[in-house]
Amino acid sequence: DTGKNNGEIVEGGELLYTDPNQPIDVRVEDLLSRMTLEEKAGQMTQVNVTKLQGSSEWDAGPLNDEWLVKTFKDYHVGSVLSGGGTTPVSNEPKLWAEMTNEIQKSAIENSRLGIPIIYGVDAVHGHNNVIGATIFPHNLGLAASRNTDLIEELGASTAKSVRATGIHWNFAPVADVGRDLRWGRFYETFGEDPYLVTKMATASIIGQQGEDISSNENVAATAKHFLGYSQPLNGQDRSSGEIPLRTLREVFYPPFEDAIENGAKTVMVNSGSINGVPVHASQYLLTDVLRGEMGFEGVIVTDWEDIIRLHSQYHITDNYKDSIARSINAGVDMSMVPVGIEDYTKNLIDAVNEELIPMERFDDAVSRILTLKFELGLFENPYIDAEQTEALTLNQDRELARQAAVESLTLLENDGILPLTTDIKTILVTGPSADNIANQMGGWTIGWQGLVGTGVPPAVTFLEGIQNAVSSNTNVLFETDTAKAVEAANNADVTIVVFGEGPYAEFDGDTTTAAVPPDQTELIKSLAETETPVVGVLVAGRPLIVTDLIRDMDAFIMAYLPGTEGGNALADVLFGKENPSGKLAFSWPSDIGQLPMFYNYYPKSTANDKAYLPLYEFGYGFGYSKFNYSNLTANDEVPIDGIIKVSVDVTNSGDFAGSESIELYVNQQLSSVLTPVKKLAGFSKVYLKPKETKTVELELPVSQLAIVPGDVLGDAEKTVEEGIYTLNIDKLAKPVSVIGSEE
Ligand code: BGC
Repeated sequence: DTGKNNGEIVEGGELLYTDPNQPIDVRVEDLLSRMTLEEKAGQMTQVNVTKLQGSSEWDAGPLNDEWLVKTFKDYHVGSVLSGGGTTPVSNEPKLWAEMTNEIQKSAIENSRLGIPIIYGVDAVHGHNNVIGATIFPHNLGLAASRNTDLIEELGASTAKSVRATGIHWNFAPVADVGRDLRWGRFYETFGEDPYLVTKMATASIIGQQGEDISSNENVAATAKHFLGYSQPLNGQDRSSGEIPLRTLREVFYPPFEDAIENGAKTVMVNSGSINGVPVHASQYLLTDVLRGEMGFEGVIVTDWEDIIRLHSQYHITDNYKDSIARSINAGVDMSMVPVGIEDYTKNLIDAVNEELIPMERFDDAVSRILTLKFELGLFENPYIDAEQTEALTLNQDRELARQAAVESLTLLENDGILPLTTDIKTILVTGPSADNIANQMGGWTIGWQGLVGTGVPPAVTFLEGIQNAVSSNTNVLFETDTAKAVEAANNADVTIVVFGEGPYAEFDGDTTTAAVPPDQTELIKSLAETETPVVGVLVAGRPLIVTDLIRDMDAFIMAYLPGTEGGNALADVLFGKENPSGKLAFSWPSDIGQLPMFYNYYPKSTANDKAYLPLYEFGYGFGYSKFNYSNLTANDEVPIDGIIKVSVDVTNSGDFAGSESIELYVNQQLSSVLTPVKKLAGFSKVYLKPKETKTVELELPVSQLAIVPGDVLGDAEKTVEEGIYTLNIDKLAKPVSVIGSEE
């Protein structure tokens, strides 16, 4: 008995889909069979929460009863999001939780079949839209930690507070490989290396989704933005991506493949185009690759308003109905903020009635969305206890945030001035980011483009961190005006200058220069003219061009966008309480004209060394100890379906305890097509006491060495080629012979 009853609710009856003991596919099939076309179209629609306050989209105001009814009863909307952290009510956690409960109640009561909504948000570095929540470092900094356990913990912590505000779906992590620092979202990536991005993004997904996403501590994660979003032409957001298929497959697929293998529930589509086709219209990418090759079974969601753009911007269709048909047929399941909800819904339904969209595709999209709702336990457990929300969101996991910021800090220059002693007599702290919470947080913090004066997250600024750390004998001076700073520097024992960028997000954050602003350059140059040593700290979402400044600094630290605990973390490192261990997740150019630049480039035909001359290489960064490597071993020979077992001894030869991330690189000596001069193939972080030696073991599945052979089309089957591969750890090398399978 499937309980089919033509959509009538049976009083106290046997509605299969409401029975939590039924398997999810049975519940989905039953529910789907009761739904009208209009109800199905509504499930595929996600509106921004500000819509629920009335007609004017962005003004703050209370929820509007009339619009709640309209949204859920007339349009049957199945999902709500707080795009860029927007909420008409308040970003205070408890009020937000009460609001999501109220919206959920309205959705369930106005839905004939009692279908709950799924609520989404961008919690990309902690629950960054909630006032009072701890802000974690942005991904680019986290990638420097090379610590996947840490990323998993941060994911779990974020998920817990997100769910505590009645939100079930997080549009994170960014799984795009960051190949152009001019792009305003570079800091949202885990850097330029596909393997590193893969490991970090997957760790975040595992942390957020936990063992069971129906638990009140977990959320559905999103691998975004499929595919090739992070290498737009000229580095400008959403400009066309023109990326060879071979590169797509070798560089951009791996993080998504791994995310899917590890159970990512949702994937968001790249708003841009690839090789002349908007990804929202690409059946090849969304269906053949994502569903077919990668086996993705979850929900594919568009990015913001993107369906209408197929005709309004891209002109590949000439009306809304065709745009809708094109993207749903390409593989899209849910539309994030379709423009003109009435228009959208009508056109979607017409497209189905006119058989522009096959019924199976339409039902398939709805089924995937319903499946996710059942998996999240929303039918059984639609509300949260708003009395618990504050305890789970305010100031949560500060220690973890501090550890994350410490592990991301990357020391790039040190002539011996660091670490400082805590009883140093006079310290000058200066620079525009020394005491500036907005700069320290970066974009996607309360406001979309960063703090706009609407409530400040918990934060220890760099100035405060230093003040907290010094002994009572130390005098901490703080000046921001250049002339006064120079005067103060003359009376100080050390100058800490914290410089860099203001906050930004997509659109506003694109740059063509990545330059240090002239007034900041002048400040650093003037400070360098004093006798007092200068420690430069860069607070930015990308490497800035500092080539002409580094000789003016006695030490230089990349601090990224470290969040709430940035100030304490910096002080921990400055005063040697912690030994810095961050390693760059990108190549740091010495000149903007070198872009695009990445370390895993193809060899070139002429024998000169101009192919890769960064200021600092990918993987660069050191600490207060020296780590020495010896005894690199690996199988001499391994079958093509085998695993290479690598081991190396690492010794802390210095006087500071600290962590070192061991990085295994591989190069294919002879290949049928070009392969990168080297590529990261494994990493592991170990903690070593002074003079301690540890043997570190790494496993490298040979399958990871697969490349795309064949000619320039890049469409040949991915294969591992037999032959010699050189493994490198630090300066040690070991050849391994990959031979045909034993069978
Ligand atoms: C961004 C997405 C984000 C969405 C919702 C879009 O503009 O590209 O990454 O998830 O907005 O806020």
